[in-house]
Amino acid sequence: MPIRQLPEQLVNQIAAGEVVERPSSVVKELLENSLDAGARRVEIDIDAGGAKRIRVRDDGGGIASEELALALSRHATSKITSLEDLERVATLGFRGEALPSIASVSRLKLTSRERGAPHAWSVEAIDGRLSAAAPAQHPEGTTVDVQDLFFNVPARRKFMRAERTEFGHIEELVRAQALARPGIEFRLTHNGRAALMLGARDAQPERRLDDALDVDFSAQALRIEHAGAGLSLSGWIGAPTASRSQADRQYFYVNGRLVRDRLIAHAVRQAYADVLFGGRHPAFVLALDLDPAAVDVNVHPAKHEVRFRDSRLVHDFIYRTLHAAIAQTRPGAEAHPQDSARVQSLLGGGVAASGYQAMQQGGLGFGVRESTTPVQAWGALYASGTADTETDRQPQPLPAERDGVPPLGYALAQVHGIYVLAQNATGLVLVDMHAAHERITYERLKSARACGAIPSQSLLVPLTIALSEREARLVEEAAPRFAALGFEVDRSGPGSVLVRRIPSALEGSNVEGLVRDVIADLGVHGSESRLTEFENELLATMACHAAVRANRKLELAEMNGLLRAMEATERADQCNHGRPTWVSLSLGELDRLFLRGR
Ligand code: ADP
Ligand code: MG
Repeated sequence: MPIRQLPEQLVNQIAAGEVVERPSSVVKELLENSLDAGARRVEIDIDAGGAKRIRVRDDGGGIASEELALALSRHATSKITSLEDLERVATLGFRGEALPSIASVSRLKLTSRERGAPHAWSVEAIDGRLSAAAPAQHPEGTTVDVQDLFFNVPARRKFMRAERTEFGHIEELVRAQALARPGIEFRLTHNGRAALMLGARDAQPERRLDDALDVDFSAQALRIEHAGAGLSLSGWIGAPTASRSQADRQYFYVNGRLVRDRLIAHAVRQAYADVLFGGRHPAFVLALDLDPAAVDVNVHPAKHEVRFRDSRLVHDFIYRTLHAAIAQTRPGAEAHPQDSARVQSLLGGGVAASGYQAMQQGGLGFGVRESTTPVQAWGALYASGTADTETDRQPQPLPAERDGVPPLGYALAQVHGIYVLAQNATGLVLVDMHAAHERITYERLKSARACGAIPSQSLLVPLTIALSEREARLVEEAAPRFAALGFEVDRSGPGSVLVRRIPSALEGSNVEGLVRDVIADLGVHGSESRLTEFENELLATMACHAAVRANRKLELAEMNGLLRAMEATERADQCNHGRPTWVSLSLGELDRLFLRGR
């Protein structure tokens, strides 16, 4: 074939392949344009999961009539003009690709009224050709109406998932954008029904968290606000008890851009290492702001990733800031004199008022004038935290029973509310109470599941849990799955479910936290078929909830019960996994420790 120049429509469709993966990518680009245009209110209307229609309307600065056609042409942008600008991009968009790409794979209509203009103008893109601009009715701002996405790209159309799956992605995207911009109003509808209605929360940004996540997320979150070395970190981190079985509530923004970044994830995980059990994921909403020149945003077509000029500095800054904040809430934390007021206020139930940090760009940043976030909860939480340090100790084989003394011996005492000290025929045994209990429960759940359904019991008082509509829908769809796990959970409203029965093995655990985690697992692992593979993960989540927390005082009989159950579990020849649940020291080893008999 001879070499030839590709037609523009095809070039745009190729670009669309990178930028427009699914309906939510269209919403992302349009939303970013609205935010870049300084909108204070954005309305997003979706039909049929976005396949039929995606309409984004804003009250931003608008587009001049003579520039409407330009906005829809390739490599046309008002956001940068030079390489110098590219190296310090402060807007969300800059590639000038989104509108022409979207237009090339849909029927797109752009209507806009510039601030102060007598009326609006509108253009339509039809199969790569633009209609002439025509006068239109529209308040100041812009509406982009995208219909029949991928109608001319059958291959792409095939990849679109069920309507509710696609809408789920859209809802999550809008939620993520909204969390970073409490001062802006967001309204999202699906098939004419309200999905997210988030009013502006200029004065109380923490209310946006409650509106978009959980009714009481902020009550269990710790406010972060710290600046230094040209970096500023602000937002909220969830208490360890608000931790999740999935990393599905982790929102991190770099200069207003939601990013998934391994370096950042690592820094956060490390900061939580002392207070979270392994396998748990903290919830957080955090914004890092820094000089745009210190971060390269031009590394990914859909701009999900960024590259820091000094990544070590960023990592350490995030780690230190969060670690210090978490440490300050620990009872008995050593306070530096200059911090004592802050520590007092943290433990006493109110975060110190912090200066309002207004961000010039797009209303971004979680500046608060005053915060009354109660964090007493955090104090008590540490009771349930144990250090999660790596250990190279391999699980030991169970010792033999000797002289009628069982392998793990008889309990003597509880040490620091965390360990059980026992004596067996050869020496002493130390047991990590929580880890041991968790493992026993897990193995029991697994074998009960293998024999059919997990035994369950009714709750004396059924429990109502408020969820997002998406989550409530998930529960409804997964009812048989829940039943097999020993739950009876019914949808009781658009955004609520009622828990009637729980697995008997989980009696006494925090039902709400448990059900929320199971829902989070379901949300991440999606379809029914994949769930089977992840059922063990679900059981592990359940077991973790059921397991005794540190500092629960156990009677000797309970401790012995735990030891006997451990023996039964290990005798059943279940493979050991994860961290060890017990260690033993023989008299010989003890003697050596004390240089006895030398
Ligand atoms: P980019 O955002 O990378 O500049 P786009 O193709 O998304 O490229 O948009 C092209 C241009 O159209 C933008 O630079 C902006 O000037 C204008 N534009 C797009 N959407 C809006 C909007 N909602 N309000 C005002 N201007 C807009
Ligand atoms: Mg754009």
